Amino acid sequence: MNDICSWTIHELVAAMEKGQVTSKEAVEAYLGRIAKVGPKLNAYITVDEEGARKAAVEADKRRAAGEATPLLGAPLAIKDLLATEGLRTTCGSKILDNFVPPYDSFAVARLKQAGAVILGKTNMDEFAMGSSNETSHYGPARNPWNTSKIPGGSSGGSAVAVAADLCAGALGSDTGGSIRQPASLCGIVGLKPTYGRVSRFGLVAFASSLDQIGPMTKDIRDAAILTSVISGHDPMDSTCSSEPLGDYLSGLEDGVEGMVVGVPDEYFIEGMDPEVEQKVREAINILEQKGATVRRISLPHTKYAVPTYYVIAPAEASSNLARYDGVKYGYRDMEAEGLSSMYCSTRNKGFGSEVKRRIMLGTYALSAGYYDAYYLKALKARTLIKRDFQEAFKDVSVIVAPTAPAAAFGLGERVDDPLKMYLSDIFTISANLAGIPGVSVPCGFTTGGEPVGLQILGSYFQEASTLRVARAVEREIGITTVKPRVDN
Ligand code: GLN
Repeated sequence: MNDICSWTIHELVAAMEKGQVTSKEAVEAYLGRIAKVGPKLNAYITVDEEGARKAAVEADKRRAAGEATPLLGAPLAIKDLLATEGLRTTCGSKILDNFVPPYDSFAVARLKQAGAVILGKTNMDEFAMGSSNETSHYGPARNPWNTSKIPGGSSGGSAVAVAADLCAGALGSDTGGSIRQPASLCGIVGLKPTYGRVSRFGLVAFASSLDQIGPMTKDIRDAAILTSVISGHDPMDSTCSSEPLGDYLSGLEDGVEGMVVGVPDEYFIEGMDPEVEQKVREAINILEQKGATVRRISLPHTKYAVPTYYVIAPAEASSNLARYDGVKYGYRDMEAEGLSSMYCSTRNKGFGSEVKRRIMLGTYALSAGYYDAYYLKALKARTLIKRDFQEAFKDVSVIVAPTAPAAAFGLGERVDDPLKMYLSDIFTISANLAGIPGVSVPCGFTTGGEPVGLQILGSYFQEASTLRVARAVEREIGITTVKPRVDN
């Protein structure tokens, strides 16, 4: 029972169904572990001990009354940009430090209906802008494999909480890689679903045409379970798709025999860590040995992905973040005199420097005279990137590539070099621009002991095929069961 915190969601729920453990006991085990190793890793911004205990008792009652759902009683963690009724939601920012939402986001409401227990809200880069968790107002989360390294971002807290067994599974969000990149760097599974698969209702908006919510878990089966629960149509989000739900679970063990796997030349570039390349190539060889046909492909517009993203995402962010003015909610500078100086100093003191940089970039790109040169041009490049994928998926079932060009880097190493930081997302951003699903699955370690992730991209609404390929890798390489040592 000692290792209860290391169980996957499906193992834990199965044990609850057999009467071997209760949700109450699981929650106590997690709260104990969070108190013990939590401070070292800074994975949570808010731990909801009282709420979690209450929800666990409720889940145990529901089970005793004969209910059974795949999440009933499972203790989960939520990235701190999903609204949780009555539970503080900071978005990693000072400006929302005191914000307590009056309603649940769609994804969280779905989890609660399914009987999941919310342990707390996880650390993240401020407004999800970052790749290292270092822009958080609450200090960075730390990589459990090496606490002098970054966990990735922006969903770093969720990745750390899953990897260090501080929750059974978590939700993150991915605008340019924020689920997949930290999943890769922390040695866990992370899935960004197709744009529109999961409702964004109640998700604090960063770049609305790119943002997607998805699971971060200890294994592929858990990712499939969570995706099934949080997906589906929601009239509260006009971009949420009414495409019928995929069956993410039943084909999971079917293997890759007969599948065509595309390997894009543009995702193996000069400057990437050779050890990462080696691990990824080994995983691709395994897919071939298991019966997949591996084919070299080209996604010729890949080189435009980072610049395109860094026009579109800041442009949308500059508009979305206009609402934080200190009037209706959030932080307000009480010393300012007069309305416009209150607006200015609230935003000046409330936002961190990366958020300000993005607001300035976005405002500039959208301003009269520059709109056509930057924003419209970026939209055109986005279309070309999308077409590359549409072309490729005529011939291949999935595309495999590294999730990130290198394993976790040192805390502080890139904070003064935004360009270098932005390049951490070079392999993840295109999927957001195109709107396709992508999963990161652990595929090995560097000699320094840092995890490496394999990324599997699928065509629109083909989450099931990406998960099936990822499961084949997980089954063969099987490192999702290897754990970081954070207890001493
Ligand atoms: N790291 C990227 C950025 O800083 C992506 C973040 C995300 O996906 N939320 O914008």
